[in-house]
Amino acid sequence: MPEKVNDPVCGMQIDKEKAKGPVDHMGKLFYFCSESCQRKFEKEPMKYMEK
Ligand SMILES: [Zn+2]
Repeated sequence: MPEKVNDPVCGMQIDKEKAKGPVDHMGKLFYFCSESCQRKFEKEPMKYMEK
């Protein structure tokens, strides 16, 4: 069963092996559904961090 990861930008669940990334932010790895979500996160990671 593929491992699911959460896209912090759009909230989508994606298969880890199909996801873009990961991007390391403050020691945590983040995965994305698309390059555009990845770029948004890289631009302003704090905006998408868990509150
Ligand atoms: Zn996304």
